[in-house]
Amino acid sequence: MNKLVSIVIPAYNEADNIFVIAESIKKVFSTIDYDYEIILVDDGSADHTLEKIKDYALTANNIFFLEFSKNFGHQLAVKAGMDHAFGDCVISMDCDMQHPPELIPDMIAKWETGYEVVYTIREDDKNLSKGKRGSSSLFYKVLNWLSDIDLEPGAADFRLLDQRVVSVFRNFHENEPFLRGLVKWLGFKQYAIKYHPAARFSGKSKYTLKKMLRLALHGVTSFSIKPLYTAVYLGFILSFASVLYIPYIIYAFVNHVEVSGWASVIMTIVFFGGLQLIILGIIGIYVGKMFMQTKNRPNYIIRSSNIQQK
Ligand code: UDP
Ligand code: MG
Repeated sequence: MNKLVSIVIPAYNEADNIFVIAESIKKVFSTIDYDYEIILVDDGSADHTLEKIKDYALTANNIFFLEFSKNFGHQLAVKAGMDHAFGDCVISMDCDMQHPPELIPDMIAKWETGYEVVYTIREDDKNLSKGKRGSSSLFYKVLNWLSDIDLEPGAADFRLLDQRVVSVFRNFHENEPFLRGLVKWLGFKQYAIKYHPAARFSGKSKYTLKKMLRLALHGVTSFSIKPLYTAVYLGFILSFASVLYIPYIIYAFVNHVEVSGWASVIMTIVFFGGLQLIILGIIGIYVGKMFMQTKNRPNYIIRSSNIQQK
């Protein structure tokens, strides 16, 4: 019997991409001796994504879907798909054809040689906007500097995981998982494949600047408490710097020099006010995370599905 490969695809307003991606995966699998199933996660789409998936599912018996009750975000959509994927290995990829399905046989081949995690690195490509490339490389620099994991720039959410890894993942109940970081953190034998992203087939990017910023802040604060230490160090440095001011005060006092520094006083107040807000904000993010996690709510809610509970 052939091994089964589960493919998890999150879809948020991707109606025009469903057929294309499903067909190109079908084509890829017609060239290799593996069975496959596709698990499409409809992340609260407002267009006809779900109908397109259901229509397609009628034509084949290996197309499954999970419908979220609302938009829970890309990372949780992938997590939900993985929670329901019981193939020998599980591949996650985007719906928009930016992750070339032609790479799947190479990923499987690496997996067969004993790697439990085969992830992909996006090579710089002109198909990506300058802004996206720049923000992505800055993000990884900051993330690696501030946290204890080491992510390669361009790491994408296009990866193969052995079922052993996926079943470890099933026990993770993080409120807002940052999958790229978690996978790296898990360990196991990992292998990286480089690829050139294609252009988005249809529709536009669902990652708005706000969503990207949130993912970035989340990536940092999920993997380290270093920012909290940074706040303390900064506090020390600034208090020390203020001590250096004492000689000047004594000098001014002794010599009766009029203090006419209104502008500099206001500047200092504004600067330190801002600094305090930033640091409070950082602490706030961590407290907020604890708050959300202690409520122990389900991380995502499934409205409907055609998967029989295994
Ligand atoms: N996506 C999702 N929920 C969201 C945002 C995105 O499920 O809230 C899906 C989207 O349908 C796509 C994948 O996540 O399959 C990656 O999104 P996108 O292509 O918009 O991001 P980009 O490639 O621009 O980083
Ligand atoms: Mg994309």
